Amino acid sequence: MNINSGQKKSDIIIVGGGVIGMSVAYELAKRGVGVTVIDKGEPGFGCSYGNAGWLTPCFSMPLPMPGMLLKSIKWMTDPESPLYIQPRPSWLLISWLTRFLFAMNEKQMVKSVTALTEISQYSLAAYSKLSGETGHDIHFEKKGLLMAANTKDGFDYAQTEMNLVSEHGVPGRRMSAEELKAFEPALTGPVVGGVYFPDEAHAEPLEVVRALTKGAIAHGAKILSGHELIDCETRDGKIVSIRTTKGVLRADEYVFAAGSWSTGVGRALGLNVPILGGKGYSFITKPVNPNPIHPLMLVEKKVAITPRNGTLRIAGTLELVNNDYSISPRRIDSIIKGARAFMNVPEEFEFSELWRGLRPCSPDGVPLIGYTKQYSNLFLATGHQMLGLQSAMGSARLAGDLILGAKPLFDPKPFNPNRF
Ligand SMILES: Cc1cc2nc3c(=O)[nH]c(=O)nc-3n(C[C@H](O)[C@H](O)[C@H](O)COP(=O)(O)OP(=O)(O)OC[C@H]3O[C@@H](n4cnc5c(N)ncnc54)[C@H](O)[C@@H]3O)c2cc1C
Repeated sequence: MNINSGQKKSDIIIVGGGVIGMSVAYELAKRGVGVTVIDKGEPGFGCSYGNAGWLTPCFSMPLPMPGMLLKSIKWMTDPESPLYIQPRPSWLLISWLTRFLFAMNEKQMVKSVTALTEISQYSLAAYSKLSGETGHDIHFEKKGLLMAANTKDGFDYAQTEMNLVSEHGVPGRRMSAEELKAFEPALTGPVVGGVYFPDEAHAEPLEVVRALTKGAIAHGAKILSGHELIDCETRDGKIVSIRTTKGVLRADEYVFAAGSWSTGVGRALGLNVPILGGKGYSFITKPVNPNPIHPLMLVEKKVAITPRNGTLRIAGTLELVNNDYSISPRRIDSIIKGARAFMNVPEEFEFSELWRGLRPCSPDGVPLIGYTKQYSNLFLATGHQMLGLQSAMGSARLAGDLILGAKPLFDPKPFNPNRF
C-alpha cells in the first residue's frame, strides 16, 4: 500500500513535543507534510522524560480491568497502594471515575487489549530501526521483560496477563521460583514464580524523543520550544489560528498532543477532553548487587526496574491527580520498599535523580486519536496512559493515515476521540 495515498495536507501545527507529538511530527514529515511542533518547554521534558523506557507489547492493558471495582475502593483508602485515588470533590474526577467504572468489563477490555497490542507491536518493530534511520542512538536493547511475583495471587495475575497477550501474538513463558532465580540472579528476595516475555525491548526515553525530533527536522519539520498555546481563534467549526506566548501561528490543520495538559488545552476551545494525570515517580540509582540483567516488573508492587548503562532506573506508582506535581515522600518510600522486597536494595538508598511525571490517562485506558467533531481541522493524539512510549509510533502511523486520508492500517474506532 502506498502510505502517501489519499489527499495530501500541508502546514500542520502540532501542540506538544512529547513522544506522541514528536512521533506524529516524524511520521507526517516523512510523508511529505509541512510540520511545525510547538512546546511550552523543551520537547521531551514532560511525561516522556523519565519513564521506565519499556517497549513492551506484553503490557497492552488498559487501566480499567474487569474485577477492579473492589480493588479501586480499597486503593482510595491506602496511600501506599500501587494505584491511589485520593478522594476529593472534583467534577472531572467524578465523571472520569464513572466512565472508568463503566469500562471495567470483559467486552471492553478485549477490544482495548486488541487495539493497544496492535499499535504497540507496530511501534516495537519501528523502534528497532529508529536509531539507524535517524542517526541518533536511542539505546534500544532487546532483553525481554521478566515479571516476578512473590505471592500466589501475583503469580496467577502474571499468567493471566501472559494468556491474554499470547492470543495477540506476544509470546511469554511461565517460570517456577527456581527457574526465575537462576534466570535473574538479582532476585534475591523470596519469589513464587514469574513470566518471561522474550521479545520485549527497552530504550532511553529522552533519547527516543531526541531521535524523533532529529528525524522530523531532517524531513523539514520546524520545532518551536518555549511556545505555550494560550487559546485559539475559531470560525465556522474550524481553528483559524492559535495564540501562543510567542505570538499567533496559523496552519491548515492542528494536532493537539499535550499529554496530561490536554484537558486544559481542550477547555480553551470548549472541548471536553477527559484526561487525568496518573502521577508516577522514577529514580536513577547506582547498580545493586547483583544487578538485574533484564528489565523487571515486580508484580505485587507494580515497580518497574530497568538496567541502564552503569545505573539503574526504578519506577512506579500511579496516583490519579489533576495537574498536581507535588512529591509524596510516603509514595516514593513505598516504591523503594517494593524494590527491596525482591532485590538487594541497600538500606541507605541513594539516587542521583528523582523524577515525577503525569501519565495522560483516559477513562477507558485507550488513547484519543482522531478528528474532533466540533472542529473539522483539529486532531487529537493524547491519553496514552502507562504505554505512551511503547505505542507512540503505532499511534503516529494511525494519525498519519487518518490525516492524509489513506486507508488506516489500524481500526480507528477504539481510538475515536468523540466517544466521550
Ligand atoms: C513513572 C512512569 C513510568 C512510565 N513508564 C513507561 C514505559 O516504560 N513505557 C511506556 O510506554 N510508557 C511509560 N510511561 C508512560 C509514558 O511516559 C507516557 O504515556 C508518555 O510519555 C506520554 O507522552 P505524551 O507525548 O502524550 O505526553 P508528554 O510527554 O507529557 O508531552 C506533552 C507535551 O505537551 C507540552 N504542552 C503541554 N501543554 C502545552 C501548551 N499549552 N502549549 C504547548 N505545549 C504544551 C508539554 O510541555 C509536553 O512536552 C511511564 C510514565 C511514568 C510516569
